[in-house]
Amino acid sequence: MVDRLDPTLHDWMNAPETRIVMAALNAPGGEARFVGGAVRNALLGESVQDVDIATTLTPDEASAALTQNAITVVPTGIAHGTLTAVVNGRPFEVTSLRHDVSTDGRRATVAFTTDWAEDAARRDFTMNAIYADVNGTIYDPTGGIADLKAGRVRFVGDADTRIQEDYLRILRLFRFYAWYGREKIDDAALAAVHANRAGLNRLSGERLQKELLRLLKAPNPLPALRMMEKAGVLAELLPVTANLERLSQLCQVAEKYALPRNPVLSLAALLNSADEARALASRLKLSNAERKRLVDAASAEPGFAPDLTATQIRKLLYRFGKDRFGDLLLLRWADRASDPAWKVLYEQAGAWTRPEFPVDGADVMDCGVAEGPGVGRMLSLLERWWVDEDFQPGRDALLAKLAEMARR
Ligand code: ATP
Ligand code: MG
Repeated sequence: MVDRLDPTLHDWMNAPETRIVMAALNAPGGEARFVGGAVRNALLGESVQDVDIATTLTPDEASAALTQNAITVVPTGIAHGTLTAVVNGRPFEVTSLRHDVSTDGRRATVAFTTDWAEDAARRDFTMNAIYADVNGTIYDPTGGIADLKAGRVRFVGDADTRIQEDYLRILRLFRFYAWYGREKIDDAALAAVHANRAGLNRLSGERLQKELLRLLKAPNPLPALRMMEKAGVLAELLPVTANLERLSQLCQVAEKYALPRNPVLSLAALLNSADEARALASRLKLSNAERKRLVDAASAEPGFAPDLTATQIRKLLYRFGKDRFGDLLLLRWADRASDPAWKVLYEQAGAWTRPEFPVDGADVMDCGVAEGPGVGRMLSLLERWWVDEDFQPGRDALLAKLAEMARR
């Protein structure tokens, strides 16, 4: 790992958008440095998604400096000193150097400072408190590089104190461990997590959700989740005892066959019923789409087996739709991962296209059925027959069948 970032080797540093923002903030009187995930991941040689910038300017000063340079400023978290600068649609989180004056376990009252060491001291982990300037010179006031190299997720300062300032740090600890941890989390930090775990209940669903889903996106989230279970963290978050074994199998299947992974499906793997899924979705304030996916995947749908016939598969696919079928299939696969037939089933499902039911309500009324609920009932009876006939009857055959049904 290099201890300097060569800007020419990192697109995100070199991008004109980045340069414009940094130039505006580095104008006389101000100093700006990259920090957080961008620096951490660049040092690891990993891709950089969003760029966090720390500045000695106060939010008002930073806002003025950016606006003067025709950069759009969105006051995303002004009370905490964060604003978002947008250039060519590309966002940069700009946060004024600060220290926490008081905290309540969820949010802090902050004071701005020009002292980089103070700013580092309020950050969560040493690997997240590494700064880099536009030239790539690294500033590492808490020894984060050594920890990053060792795969050691270490609190800046005393774990117990830092957790009580913001209980979300419990989840962040395991999230970063899932991604970067190679060395065991130290016992003092785990003891602090255990002692303070009830504090998680004071956090908003949105904050919990964000960290939990990011954790579940890690290539292998299982070691972190096992530690969370041991420390009593999962019991605070989930409505039931988490089925870690199933998630473990799901990850192994995905890895073995290079299948895409999804954090909501991973969450579903931990649960046993639609009711549990609904409870968790509410707790985590999942979006409607995510909630639906979680509930649909966690519901106990029978009928899945590795040795289904092609006809049975088509029937299930039509009933559940391709996406939900895929989710349900993967979870059953995780339950009986030893059976290689799942793979064939998965591929068959992937190749399926939904057949179009070629009859509608107008056809039913043409057969003399009066407008009203009877039309829908007749239509679904006909559709069921079509499905049972393996989608073979075409429009003419369906209309003949319909006429026969209408005569009865
Ligand atoms: P990612 O790559 O996932 O964005 P990140 O390290 O950039 O990871 P962010 O959530 O974007 O994480 O936060 C940016 C930085 O802000 C962190 O690196 C850390 O220094 C600081 N930070 C964020 N949340 C907290 C927190 N709850 N307590 C202390 N510091 C925090
Ligand atoms: Mg970030």
